[in-house]
Amino acid sequence: MTITNEPQAPARRAVGISNGGALSTRVDVAIRGIRVAAPVHREGGAGPSDDGHVLFQGLQSAIPQSQDSPYLVDDGRLLLEGEDTGIEVTPVARPRFYDLATADGVSYEAIARLHGAKVLATTVVQTCVRYDVAERCRFCSIEESLNSGATVAVKTPSMIAEVAEAAWRLDGVEQMVMTTGTSKGRDRGATHLARCVRAIKAVVPELEIQVQCEPPGDLTTITDLYEAGARSIGIHVESMDDDVRRRWMPGKSRVSMDEYRAAWREAVRVFGRNQVSTYLLVGLGEDPDEMVAGAQELIDMGVYPFIVPFRPLRGTLATDVDHVPAPHGSVLHDITFRVSEALIAAGMKGTDQKAGCAACGACSALQTAGG
Ligand code: SF4
Repeated sequence: MTITNEPQAPARRAVGISNGGALSTRVDVAIRGIRVAAPVHREGGAGPSDDGHVLFQGLQSAIPQSQDSPYLVDDGRLLLEGEDTGIEVTPVARPRFYDLATADGVSYEAIARLHGAKVLATTVVQTCVRYDVAERCRFCSIEESLNSGATVAVKTPSMIAEVAEAAWRLDGVEQMVMTTGTSKGRDRGATHLARCVRAIKAVVPELEIQVQCEPPGDLTTITDLYEAGARSIGIHVESMDDDVRRRWMPGKSRVSMDEYRAAWREAVRVFGRNQVSTYLLVGLGEDPDEMVAGAQELIDMGVYPFIVPFRPLRGTLATDVDHVPAPHGSVLHDITFRVSEALIAAGMKGTDQKAGCAACGACSALQTAGG
């Protein structure tokens, strides 16, 4: 794959225009990482990882940890090459539920993890039908944390409910994100997700839950997820450009954009406007203007486009085989800024979502930009 992630054709806005320097710095640390001792961190697995979880100016943030970064967190301040940036960064403390285990001896930490400061997250099925080398999404390392022994392949509804209750009671988690590897079935894994949601809501009715899955073959499954008790849903496309999708997601790109659009429309009908989201990854070689136009289409549908930089992660084909670098900061800044403006104009805020990645915001700079 030949993706260089050089700055792409003319960014309409210069870096540093919005929200003082906070957005520029938030974008820069997302790309260059930070040096920080973070008790809450992730290695491998679904979604962005290899990061430390901190409060960045009070906002939950998941930032790559890099010993080569010029950014250092010292005594709650962010230093750039030794100079105080004026930005407060506080590592999230290790949660108490990590010290517990099930009666069978499975560590709670292997069942679900703290994300940010207030989010409990788990991958209910840690394997994916598309994980064959020719099929897998090139940015994904879902089975790596399984191979390393950090998690278990299938979490049962009762296991997850037990951990959710403890995390809620001991550590004050406010919301939960549940994703899944894609199964062979027509539901693509959504039925197991619904069972897990029901089990959690039976023991912690107050906990808001987001489910994340591919467009289910049968759209009535979306109603099943809502009726089980989920109140937000992520149906993640990562890119709306079919050429990018074929290059980066050979298996998943066979789920057509028409199927995604139908699933998003049905999800907005069932869950409501701005309770549906999708990831858009910056750095897959897409045209920035087309990405912003795609985000606008999503916003018009009531779907929140969660703008996240591609991260070069160990254990992914993109890093280990293709050697794709992180996107250029000016491109990420430009897209984040333009999409946040569109979100603000539409009255859609990530924090208005009941649960999920947009509500958490840690993996994106959108909340720093006001979106
Ligand atoms: S944005 Fe999503 S993946 Fe990132 S830390 Fe928050 S819940 Fe986890």
